[in-house]
Amino acid sequence: MQTYHTIQGMRRELLLNRREGLKIGLVATMGNLHAGHIELINLAKQTNDIVVCSIFVNELQFGLNEDWDRYPRTFSADCEKLLASGCDYLFCPDDLEMYPNGLATQSKVICPVMTNTLCGASRPGHFEGVTTVVSKLFNIIQPDESVFGLKDYQQLAVIRRMVEDLCLPVKLIAAPIYREPDGLAMSSRNVFITEQERSKVTILKSCLDAIAAEILSGKTQYPKLEQEAIKKIETLGFRVDYIAICNSRSLEPAAEDDSELVVLGAIFTEAARIIDNVAIMREN
Ligand code: AMP
Repeated sequence: MQTYHTIQGMRRELLLNRREGLKIGLVATMGNLHAGHIELINLAKQTNDIVVCSIFVNELQFGLNEDWDRYPRTFSADCEKLLASGCDYLFCPDDLEMYPNGLATQSKVICPVMTNTLCGASRPGHFEGVTTVVSKLFNIIQPDESVFGLKDYQQLAVIRRMVEDLCLPVKLIAAPIYREPDGLAMSSRNVFITEQERSKVTILKSCLDAIAAEILSGKTQYPKLEQEAIKKIETLGFRVDYIAICNSRSLEPAAEDDSELVVLGAIFTEAARIIDNVAIMREN
């Protein structure tokens, strides 16, 4: 695996591959790679000749009081995992390389829908940081395909909309959520979960599953189902950011006759914010 820290070096190398007609897949990450990330690399390998993984902890998508400075940075362990996965290239620019003019005056890509609700409500500006860095990465790597995880359901929905609105020539691939054996969605931030919290955080997934089961059994009082889940999670001592039953395309609150739904949730542990979701196909 070859590693590039500069945009120019990465582009020059990929140009050679492109001239040979090779298909390029991108997996964009913020590092501290886990088995879920590696599954994204494996998916990208299935339909591309060359796979690029990027590692960049993008300050632009973190709020002022969020965990950008303490986000786990595990570069050498990440390199070993990528090497073992058969990834071809690692692109890992530093902050100056990605934002040479600084963050304050950076031109931004803004998606006007789906970005102020759910995670966007408690993380103002988060999604414009995401769409900006992802479009920069698309411009640098110019991938034929890019794989994103359904774990970050709202993020993928927003990126999909950006790609459509801006006619970006990249095919998006959605990867399923990879989980620990007890159901907890793998996440780089899981290292912040304390030992005492660890067995209890699975309550988020169980509540989402319980809501999904209720909906599949015909229940349509969505606000009531959401409130019941919130109460249950709070009993275990976690603060709930949101539990929301949404239309899976618009991410608007689900209507009774919607058939494609997603139940999303975000909770705060002492030192982390954990998100998860469960998609449901309901017969009308
Ligand atoms: P991150 O490094 O957390 O920004 O994630 C990089 C990519 O990996 C994003 O597309 C995430 O949605 C995806 N990802 C992270 N964790 C998981 C997981 N447990 N299952 C599937 N995809 C994931």
